[in-house]
Amino acid sequence: MKPVKIVFATANRNKVIEIAGKLGDGYHIVTPAELGWEEDIPETHETIPENAVEKAQFIWDKFHKSCFADDTGLEVDYLHGAPGVYSARYAGEPKNPAQNVVKLLKELEGVPFEQRTARFRCVIALIEDGRLHTFEGICEGHISLEPMGQLGFGYDPVFIPEGKDVTMAMMSLEDKNAISHRGRAVEKLIAYLNK
Ligand code: IMP
Repeated sequence: MKPVKIVFATANRNKVIEIAGKLGDGYHIVTPAELGWEEDIPETHETIPENAVEKAQFIWDKFHKSCFADDTGLEVDYLHGAPGVYSARYAGEPKNPAQNVVKLLKELEGVPFEQRTARFRCVIALIEDGRLHTFEGICEGHISLEPMGQLGFGYDPVFIPEGKDVTMAMMSLEDKNAISHRGRAVEKLIAYLNK
């Protein structure tokens, strides 16, 4: 059977690889670039669900193809939920994942491990034939004392998932996908798509 094509409203290669790994052979992800859209997709809201919906809606309005988008934030309890919805630009413009990590570790300087609790929150918004559905995935954990690992992206080198003793940047794609915020949200998306 031919895979079902579905547009993923992102320019982030890492996210495409993670979600393609989880969706499997039944689905073929099409990126906005493949549809001719090379620019950033706007995300102008103050909450993660609203940004996910905005990105999916943007592609639906332009191309009228079923599509989904994800928006993710890292919520650190000691920082009262920051960087949260501002995770991508935590260290300022332009987006710089390495500087975001540097800033986060600086903000948490001297804070003991037990107080470094945090979670990734991911919302996937799907627009299917013009109708909206959302799916949330959460991964609880701690912010490490220093960056560790070379895999993954973003805040992965400083995020230790609950029950693990390694950062997400030390986990294989499969292992991260099995427990991650995005993996969990995608599982809900797949359950819906397969219904
Ligand atoms: P966005 O969903 O692309 O807006 O991501 C917000 C911020 O969170 C960016 O700085 C990403 O690099 C980071 N981020 C998103 N997903 C992950 C992840 O799975 N691991 C680590 N960082 C992530």
